[in-house]
Amino acid sequence: MGSIRVDYASERFMIIYEGDDSGMGANSAYASGNEKKTNPSMLSLVIKDGILRRQQDIDGQIVKGWAVRVFESKNPVVSVSAGNDYGKEPFESQPAYGHHLVLVASPDPAKTLATIDSEQWSNTLVVVQDRLRWLYTQKGVAYVAVYADHVGGLRGRSKVHPHLNIVSFKVIPPTVNDEMESYKRTQEKRGTCPTCHIIEGDDQLRRVLQTESFVAYCPWSPTYPFEFCIAPKRHAVSFAKMSQKEIEDLALMIRATLGGLASLIKNVTFSMVFHLSAERKSSRLMHWHIEVYPVTKQWSGMERGYGIHLNDVSPEDAAKKLGASCRKELANMVGIG
Ligand SMILES: [Zn+2]
Ligand SMILES: [Zn+2]
Repeated sequence: MGSIRVDYASERFMIIYEGDDSGMGANSAYASGNEKKTNPSMLSLVIKDGILRRQQDIDGQIVKGWAVRVFESKNPVVSVSAGNDYGKEPFESQPAYGHHLVLVASPDPAKTLATIDSEQWSNTLVVVQDRLRWLYTQKGVAYVAVYADHVGGLRGRSKVHPHLNIVSFKVIPPTVNDEMESYKRTQEKRGTCPTCHIIEGDDQLRRVLQTESFVAYCPWSPTYPFEFCIAPKRHAVSFAKMSQKEIEDLALMIRATLGGLASLIKNVTFSMVFHLSAERKSSRLMHWHIEVYPVTKQWSGMERGYGIHLNDVSPEDAAKKLGASCRKELANMVGIG
């Protein structure tokens, strides 16, 4: 079972686990017809006569004809049966305790996160909400991370079946913790949420796209070329409480921006990360947002060894190019232009 190791110099932690390639390649275990290769689904959304039904695999009976399916990972990063192995300084370690769910966003292995339609994205987001609510009622869950990786057509890399990982932790992950701390500091200093400040301010230069309730923009100081953020226009701290109408609007935004990114940069590889508040009473809240990190070049020693990012595309340029591509994508989706 996996173990969390704490670095003795920096206190950063990392996880050792067995690795997982079950969602890779043409015969992905996540594809429709291969359900027996995964754990039973805890929730399968089936659309019948236009109505969304919530079902699950029970006693070996597999739900067929699903649109979206979620199950416990067979090779998890964290596990509820993580054991009881603790290591002392300087070899500090603890069991990697938590839930690792795989949310398959399409039965079709030929699709990608940038090509499934927005309705399919909306079904996926409904299940993210559902599992967030459930996980935050479970013991030992301080934070739930939601992320996806898309591998472009680089040589020697297998295609990844479109899916999201939903992983719980007993602590707030370091990057989210840092962000929450800096949100708190800014809020105290200026009396306003930094994301609201960016959205309401005159940040048109880095704006990528907007829909009714959401905005996509390149951050002022991006880590990666063409990195962008998606955030609700109005201050919102709970992803789980988002309405169905907002979900549909967010699905449109995600599909338009990922499609725009994929058509701008051929064979792009990217990660997509949900930075959400921990949906528990008395926990710190933040204006939730989604960050997309395209990987267009190798990191240098500067990034790896010093944590200083060299970016050969300014966010202003990136926003201009991404904006044009995403607007075109959105127009095609909603049938204008
Ligand atoms: Zn805000
Ligand atoms: Zn963030």
